[in-house]
Amino acid sequence: MMNKVYLGIDIGGTAAKFGIVDENGNILHRDEFSVSFDGYDTPILETVLDKTDYFVASSGLDIAEISGIGISATGQIDSEKGEVIGSAGHIKNWVGSKIKESFEKKYSIKTIVINDANSAALGEKWMGAGVGYKNIVAITIGTGVGGGIIVDDKILLGKRGLAGEIGHIVIHGSGESCSCGNVGCMERYASTTALVRKVAAAKEKDPTTFSEEFNDNINGRKIFDAINENIVIPQIVDEWVEDISLGIISLVHIFNPEKVIIGGGVSGRKEFIESLSKKVHEKVMPRFSEGLEIVPAKLGNDAGLIGAIYYLIESK
Ligand SMILES: [Zn+2]
Repeated sequence: MMNKVYLGIDIGGTAAKFGIVDENGNILHRDEFSVSFDGYDTPILETVLDKTDYFVASSGLDIAEISGIGISATGQIDSEKGEVIGSAGHIKNWVGSKIKESFEKKYSIKTIVINDANSAALGEKWMGAGVGYKNIVAITIGTGVGGGIIVDDKILLGKRGLAGEIGHIVIHGSGESCSCGNVGCMERYASTTALVRKVAAAKEKDPTTFSEEFNDNINGRKIFDAINENIVIPQIVDEWVEDISLGIISLVHIFNPEKVIIGGGVSGRKEFIESLSKKVHEKVMPRFSEGLEIVPAKLGNDAGLIGAIYYLIESK
């Protein structure tokens, strides 16, 4: 008898990743499609439904062979209704999308929908850096700061599936304005975007200390590559890591995790993880520090897709 296979879809703001995933979490077939090709005039949900037919056909499977559909999606997701109920960004025609209802109506296959950051946390638990651990805080540092919290093996969803918005923990009470309407949110200080903004401001102030590489497209990679040569970058990076640690320290005291998993492009930098780990361990209460590990994520861009399938399988 053939093993069960599932369809996983990870819907982001610019592209949707599709995968046929087996019950052991292996991706057997994959593809990726733009969802922003016409500035969202075609609603994302319409594009995704359309590409689902194409993707399943291209995998050589019949839709009837799919045992379930797991969808990880950007924005605020009501995971019970499987519907987009809010968005921190400004994606046209996205809020209000009834994802679960549309898929179940079209394919008559059980479909679950979960926020992408929560899904990524589950993916890491199932197949990545969190295997074998029951209490995990997962944080993704990129354009924004996203997160997922796993307590006793279960993702913390809250009343409507919105829990885990780690990026909006307030770390500076009278700080910078955030897109959410509040001030001083972790995302304003701890995202890669924030780091790039600070380095760009320092360069503006004293251009002579920066190499030509910093004339355009400053990014996390360039900043970390220059950390040993540039005289102002180490200080800026240190303050940035400090800000990330402030959010994590609060989370450690609330959830008492065994592992804090850091995702996003910068998480591959060993010196970053080590410095962050040191700062957290120095400031948390001693009993919380015992056995606490701060580690980089392992699944990269596959975490959301794999996590959605885990959530689907577990929700039976
Ligand atoms: Zn905020």
